[in-house]
Amino acid sequence: MDIHEYQAKEVLASFGVVSPDGALAYSPEQAAYRSRELGGERWVVKAQVHAGGRGKAGGVHVCDSDTAIYDACEKLFGAKLVTHQTGPEGMGVYRVYVEKAVAIAREIYLGFVLDRTSQRVMIVASSEGGMEIEEISAEKPESIVRATVEPAVGLREFQCRQIAFKLGVDAGLVQQMVRTLQGCYRAFTELDATMVEINPLVITADDQVVALDAKMTFDDNALFRHPQISELRDKSQEDPRESRAADRGLNYVGLDGNIGCIVNGAGLAMATMDTIKLAGGEPANFLDIGGGATPDRVAKAFRLVLSDKKVQAILVNIFAGINRCDWVAEGVVQVLREIEVDMPVVVRLAGTNVEQGQKILAASGLPIIRATTLNQAAERVVQAWQNDQAQGVNMRAAS
Ligand code: ADP
Ligand code: MG
Repeated sequence: MDIHEYQAKEVLASFGVVSPDGALAYSPEQAAYRSRELGGERWVVKAQVHAGGRGKAGGVHVCDSDTAIYDACEKLFGAKLVTHQTGPEGMGVYRVYVEKAVAIAREIYLGFVLDRTSQRVMIVASSEGGMEIEEISAEKPESIVRATVEPAVGLREFQCRQIAFKLGVDAGLVQQMVRTLQGCYRAFTELDATMVEINPLVITADDQVVALDAKMTFDDNALFRHPQISELRDKSQEDPRESRAADRGLNYVGLDGNIGCIVNGAGLAMATMDTIKLAGGEPANFLDIGGGATPDRVAKAFRLVLSDKKVQAILVNIFAGINRCDWVAEGVVQVLREIEVDMPVVVRLAGTNVEQGQKILAASGLPIIRATTLNQAAERVVQAWQNDQAQGVNMRAAS
């Protein structure tokens, strides 16, 4: 789960990471009012979306009056901000963060990630802050400093000092760097984050080490341990298909194709997507409905897949081990009787009670296309989809 910049700054502040004074606003009026509350002469208005690259995309404005803040906000609120990380459809701006502007002397990149090779938390830092890490590694790879943390002892001060010196930070500021690095590390481990990124971490003209941006991502599977973090979820920033799935306990990832997949087991779901592609089709989603594919879950899965307007054919692929094919078949029949599905539906069942399952599908009188192997299922769904498309074209041509 991702959170907003202002939320990440608040979380990190409780671990001793310093950022400029700022306040959240939900409207231009409120933003202007917040700047007066904050005081000072210059402020930065920042669109709160779950994506980086806002500065270059017009999502960050430096303002020197409350009317300038109002004007900047008029443009931001309700708009879709398109940055290189959002995709062409952009992300809606419903909150802005008003922050005191600081005088920047130096910008540093700082990131904490999980390094799968060393199985440790890795610190990635660079003296070239402000640029994205991808750019830095392409253009200035020699500026990147890496360090891994031994989990049994945590991040030691000497390691932080080493990083600070490698970045060329003045000796007088090293203590502030140590506090920032250790604060991030503690936030990362104590809150089960998978990523903490401060870009830029700046050294101000008056020698303060300050986080000007902050990004945190958390491990969804550990959110139950951190209710104060799960409360920070902002559904307006998520793919609506994915948040609907998450609310229903389904494991779903939206894709761009048009063949909807309803599968039990993550491995089988991946194999199903591959096989659809092999057969010449494009999957619309990854969906693992889990082991207990009860009729109720099958129904939820159908509704979810159908809510994606791109879907033009559906493949149900269930391997029943603990589950029972007759149950799943009942679920499918029940759903197809309840909701109108005007597209081809291919069902492949295998495993426990498969014969009973097939009988239920056949006896239903519904136009379900059945398949026995995965290859056959993928070929049939792609074929049915192609026929359907061709028919649609013929009908349009005839009318
Ligand atoms: P993004 O990474 O999404 O572009 P940032 O929060 O990093 O957004 O802001 C972009 C740039 O704006 C920063 O690199 C920094 O130069 C400038 N900036 C951001 N916040 C402030 C601030 N409070 N004071 C001065 N400059 C700022
Ligand atoms: Mg940034």
